[in-house]
Amino acid sequence: MTLNLTLTDAVQFVPGVGPGRAKAFVKLGIKTVEDLIEHFPSRYDLTPKSTPIEDIEEGKVATLVGEITRLRSRGSLTKQRITANLVDGTGSCRIQWFNSPYLLDKLHEGQVVRLTGKIIVVEDQAKLTNPAWQTVDENQDALRVDQDKWNPVYPATSQLTSAQIERIIVNIIDDLAKLFVEFIPPDLVERRKLTDRRLAILRFHKPRTQEDVEISRHRIAYDEFLLCQLAVQTGRSRAHQIRGATPLPCTKTIDDRIRKRLPFKLTPGQDKAIEEICTDLARDIPMSRLLQADVGAGKTAVAVYASLVAVANRKQVAILAPTEVLVSQHLQKLTAYLSESRVNISYLAGSLTKSQRTTTLQKIRSGEIDIIVGTHALIQQNVDFQDLGLVIIDEQHKFGVAQRAALTAKGRRPHTLILTATPIPRSLAMTLFGDLDASIIEDAPPGRQPIVTTLVTEELETRAWTFVSKLIASGQQAYIVYPLVDESESLPLKAATVEADRLANEHLSNAKVGLLHGRMKPAEKSQIMASFRSGDLNALVATTVIEVGVDVPNATMMVIQHAERYGLSQLHQLRGRIGRGDQKSYCLLFSDSKNPKSIERLNILCESTDGFHIAEQDLLMRGPGELLGTRQHGIPTFKAADITRDIHLLQQARDDAAEILRDDPDLKISQHRELNRELKRRYAASQSLMFTG
Ligand code: ADP
Ligand code: MG
Repeated sequence: MTLNLTLTDAVQFVPGVGPGRAKAFVKLGIKTVEDLIEHFPSRYDLTPKSTPIEDIEEGKVATLVGEITRLRSRGSLTKQRITANLVDGTGSCRIQWFNSPYLLDKLHEGQVVRLTGKIIVVEDQAKLTNPAWQTVDENQDALRVDQDKWNPVYPATSQLTSAQIERIIVNIIDDLAKLFVEFIPPDLVERRKLTDRRLAILRFHKPRTQEDVEISRHRIAYDEFLLCQLAVQTGRSRAHQIRGATPLPCTKTIDDRIRKRLPFKLTPGQDKAIEEICTDLARDIPMSRLLQADVGAGKTAVAVYASLVAVANRKQVAILAPTEVLVSQHLQKLTAYLSESRVNISYLAGSLTKSQRTTTLQKIRSGEIDIIVGTHALIQQNVDFQDLGLVIIDEQHKFGVAQRAALTAKGRRPHTLILTATPIPRSLAMTLFGDLDASIIEDAPPGRQPIVTTLVTEELETRAWTFVSKLIASGQQAYIVYPLVDESESLPLKAATVEADRLANEHLSNAKVGLLHGRMKPAEKSQIMASFRSGDLNALVATTVIEVGVDVPNATMMVIQHAERYGLSQLHQLRGRIGRGDQKSYCLLFSDSKNPKSIERLNILCESTDGFHIAEQDLLMRGPGELLGTRQHGIPTFKAADITRDIHLLQQARDDAAEILRDDPDLKISQHRELNRELKRRYAASQSLMFTG
């Protein structure tokens, strides 16, 4: 068959697709023939080659395909044995399984199976003990394969199964793989010992051996990393070419003045971050810096410092925070630090009355307000600044790239500081930001006690509540959190409400218990938070509105109900609400889950309080999309590359990209023509978005 297809043709014209299936392909992000060919298997199922029984050798692992005869079971319930014969026309082999009574439901005489195990010979009779088994459909599968067969498993949907995708691709891949061009310069192909791109594409879909799988995956993954690094690094250098920001130098006098205002001595980690920020601020290139630190490391103080440098340079500062609770917390801190100073601070949020809003907007416009803290309300069109010099985004994972850009657009090339709540594992940070312009605070404020984290199973619940109640009696405070995936969900809300009552009447009858949830009016929320902060409330039952940012140092207990429903990083964030003072803190993870995977996950948290380690584990278990929120943050999705496993390859690609760009920053020379084309094809849409602060 000859195919008259080009790579840019719509997928609908591929034999076996058609308009109906084309729609199903779109769901997988596949529109063109090229997209289809680049839809790579996510893994392979191995069908090992089978050996005729007459050819088996003692001591070797073999796969036999044949029919089961003489199936017997004997022995007691605890010491049970199943025996059978396997016959394949060339001979027969004895099989025995110990203590696997369930097999009697699965196997029957006359059934064709594929068995894999180590052959032993006893009295001239070949024998397999406890072999792995698989039933074989006589009508469909090839009964015997004379070579190991790696069956690709494709990302699929309910309308389009992996097997269907495989059939469509296998049919065209020999012809179409040839149409792909090599875009990596030959010297690099040689130096990195990359396999030919066309061959890699072909073998990735149709591997003959495990080595085929590895070599081709390696090549495709390298391509993905290299292109991503080229995109990251060109975007970076382009951003660094932009000038026109107002330099905001930090003099010794300014530094002294700011430090006097803070109620504590900054940690070395905070100092280092501040130094890096000040270097950026002093230039006419708009700063675009990421501040990463584990929960509770003190990012806010660094942000306050940066704000005051901007104000000292007579610029306005906008601080964007995801929730009104956080806005009022920032406002309170700033107000306390800056009491009796001339710095004018205000806030903008949904809870303002119309006239308050009008006045505030007017004062932002006239320049009377120096620092404005706000929720999404800050991004609205009617917010105009007199002279916005610095934008700070707190808890960046709660905002999309477009929202951040909307805020920076309100100034003339303002400097931007982004605070991340989730420590991003190094590998991921490197992919996202090209390892540049990120400050990391690695230490914590002094006197912190490690948080003790315990898994509370059903049997332990009563004892756990007694413990909470004692802690409260001694004057400490507790959070009790209910999972709420979506703020509009009403079921957990009801659970939280009922629970608040129940706790107040039963386990925590000694305590004043408050309730906080996302659907309360902002004023109500602020009031509850204020009562908790002041100590009027001993315990706060909350849905996950308190997940980010909330800072009440006297709270030393965090109870998380149905802990198994959260991701690790989210749990770590929640736990980060405690352990902020100098008293010992406790995190109780309530879970009645029997799922070993869930328990294993929760145990990671019991054993570690290191946010970077936890994020790394979370990344391994759930992938980068889940870890950082959504795709809107510009995380590239890789098809073959795996940022958790392929860190070494990623580093190579980063170095190679830097070398390519050093000699040819715009990828103009003829040797780089195909590379440039491929880069545009893959990153044209997202490139500008990935790097805007
Ligand atoms: P996060 O990095 O999670 O946003 P915060 O900025 O809320 O952390 O800081 C956590 C707590 O640590 C706050 O109560 C803050 O006042 C306190 N803190 C921050 N820096 C220091 C410091 N250098 N010394 C003592 N306490 C500090
Ligand atoms: Mg914070």
